[in-house]
Amino acid sequence: MDLPTLTIPTVAIEGRTDRFPVRRIYCVGQNYAAHAREMGADPERQEPFFFSKPADAVQPSGSNIPFPTRTDDLHHEVELVLALGAGGTDLEPADTMKLVFGCAVGVDLTRRDLQATAKRDRRPWDIAKGFDRSAPIGSITPGRTPTTGSIRLAVNGVERQAADLTNMIWSPAEVIAALSTYVTLAPGDLVFTGTPAGVGRLLPGDLVEANIDGLSPLSFQLT
Ligand code: MN
Repeated sequence: MDLPTLTIPTVAIEGRTDRFPVRRIYCVGQNYAAHAREMGADPERQEPFFFSKPADAVQPSGSNIPFPTRTDDLHHEVELVLALGAGGTDLEPADTMKLVFGCAVGVDLTRRDLQATAKRDRRPWDIAKGFDRSAPIGSITPGRTPTTGSIRLAVNGVERQAADLTNMIWSPAEVIAALSTYVTLAPGDLVFTGTPAGVGRLLPGDLVEANIDGLSPLSFQLT
């Protein structure tokens, strides 16, 4: 048997024909107070915590995404995604923003029922968070990281999530700095920075539209 040939997953870049290669995908949990509360957590006392998704979970805007298997409670979580053009370890927040190549709108698709079971039974979240096509992401806009502005998500034209980036508990700089104390960050890493309140259930056929002020919009349809 021949050895398998692998391709590196990539994300489109606004205004360019070359693409951003994805090395790893990290996600921060419960980074907006109102969402932490809706998940039954206390938002005030938590250090940021992290989980990951496989790099090939990325899906471009405009995708038709087959409804995931093994869930009756698929949830949307709109998030600001940081695309790192450089890395480091044990970073100070003030030194992190120069690492960001650009930003995008992402959705952290979540099998909430499997996550609830994992929490209850103290099992890993991988299969609840890191499944096939679980990281739809719009084109990356090169340049500075937005820290204010609207972040929102609609399903079939009805708004479900709407907040402002200033509502983050840990800023993008603080998220990168904290993450860099656990792992060495490197070019190609994507960091999902958490979702505001209003997460909810998706059904086959749903059209999801996600926006952050100043960034390329993301849409996808579940089939
Ligand atoms: Mn999330």
